[in-house]
Amino acid sequence: MTLPNVPYRHEIVSSEPLKPFLGPLVSMLGTGLYFSQSMRGEIVGGMGDPLEEPGLNQSSSLRFMTRYSRALTELLPQVGKVKLLRQWAGCYDVTPDHSPVLGETPGVTGLLQMSGFVGHGFMMAPAVGRRMALWMGGAQDEIFDRYNLRRFAEGRLIQETFIIG
Ligand SMILES: Cc1cc2nc3c(=O)[nH]c(=O)nc-3n(C[C@H](O)[C@H](O)[C@H](O)COP(=O)(O)OP(=O)(O)OC[C@H]3O[C@@H](n4cnc5c(N)ncnc54)[C@H](O)[C@@H]3O)c2cc1C
Repeated sequence: MTLPNVPYRHEIVSSEPLKPFLGPLVSMLGTGLYFSQSMRGEIVGGMGDPLEEPGLNQSSSLRFMTRYSRALTELLPQVGKVKLLRQWAGCYDVTPDHSPVLGETPGVTGLLQMSGFVGHGFMMAPAVGRRMALWMGGAQDEIFDRYNLRRFAEGRLIQETFIIG
């Protein structure tokens, strides 16, 4: 059985530090824009791009910078003059339903899957890791069945997906 995970570049940018003014992470579910203010005061954010092609591309683009800056200043006009200091990119690990692959690998006993966290791995992986440890010790946990790799072959894609970025 083949893993359906595919890498997609995700770009991100950090501004110069500003006095603290923003408490929560802001996420626009329509455009994919998201940003938060770091403890050092920088506005750090990104924006998914529907035209991004799959592949191990980790370069930075002017297209991202333009789209992000426009979307951010539309929402927060007062940051229009703020300098952007660093731009970089990494790859999201994307599955066909944008949800992780968890649990047993069909046909390979003992090979456990915990991948495909898209842009949410830092947030989700600690909790999923803890549940997997308990499950490996014998506890019942339905997520390792619901998110099993088999779901792609069986046409049981996860519907309730929530994507930041
Ligand atoms: C730009 C960007 C911003 C992001 N922002 C956020 C965010 O704000 N919040 C959030 O929750 N998530 C965010 N994510 C997603 C998060 O980074 C990932 O979901 C998370 O890092 C995945 O963790 P992982 O341990 O599954 O995989 P990884 O962190 O990719 O770890 C896999 C490891 O396996 C190693 N490896 C690969 N192949 C082999 C091999 N054959 N043999 C041995 N080792 C191997 C790799 O070197 C790597 O160290 C972001 C991702 C990107 C790219």
